[in-house]
Amino acid sequence: MNEIEFMDLWHQAMLVGLIVFVALAVVVFLVYSIRVASISDYKIKHDFINASEVAWLKRVALIFGIGIACLINLYGSSKFNQLGVWFGVRVFMSIAGATVVYYTSSLILDYYYPTRLSRKLRKWRYMPRLNPKTGSKLRLLTEAEEDVHLDEGMKAEENIFSIDYDVWIDDQTKEVKIEKYQGHLLALECHNCGFYTMRVKREEIMERNEAGEPTMLLKHYECSYCKNVRATQFPISSKQADDYREEKAPAKRVHKDIEGIKIEILNAITGRHSYEFQTLDQAQKFLEEYDIKN
Ligand SMILES: [Zn+2]
Repeated sequence: MNEIEFMDLWHQAMLVGLIVFVALAVVVFLVYSIRVASISDYKIKHDFINASEVAWLKRVALIFGIGIACLINLYGSSKFNQLGVWFGVRVFMSIAGATVVYYTSSLILDYYYPTRLSRKLRKWRYMPRLNPKTGSKLRLLTEAEEDVHLDEGMKAEENIFSIDYDVWIDDQTKEVKIEKYQGHLLALECHNCGFYTMRVKREEIMERNEAGEPTMLLKHYECSYCKNVRATQFPISSKQADDYREEKAPAKRVHKDIEGIKIEILNAITGRHSYEFQTLDQAQKFLEEYDIKN
């Protein structure tokens, strides 16, 4: 095989590669979309998207990047038909191009995309559930519920992970559907950079009652983008999921538009600390204690 034949074969291979990899990227994206669409249970769909959407899109970006590398290797294919320095340069450029495509996509998927993802996840989390037997709409009971729940068997100081209960109730039949969300798997909005990249890093028990049961939990959050940290205190609910069956519609907040209170303390030595509370009482109690300590 001479140089001309080799170059011819090379360019043909790159053309096939371009078509195959771009098509494969589309197929992988479609396979993922079909998998999501085929999950009929909203809660399972939520968890699947939360756990795997970013990984799947990264896979698509990687395959698409390889396709771009093939495209770059076709540059000038009609003019050049002999091996030379430019051939090596073009191969190098194609690898660099693929890396840029993949790296840029990864950054977008890790930091910018979670904002969109979180909107999508909220849609599935709060999409009204239907009673499979009667077809009537269920009502979400714990929307105003601010207590956290601890995973059973994880109440030791280290390794605690709180869970969010969403309780859906059928007002007619009193049937209840309980959905558990692992608190540390949910990304929240970072108030510093605005991305949905804030997750629970660790949790600690702040208070216990006489019986030694934990009553107050402090969640430490960290933003994976700007590394901003915050801590929020939550009362621990001793209520079991079943207890919600008996419950009436939750009482409205005094100020229903106030979602929380944020206190930011600028310490000359240790820097900026922010704390969040659900009620004015909690915030006041915190400030009084803070005053005493200092
Ligand atoms: Zn941030």
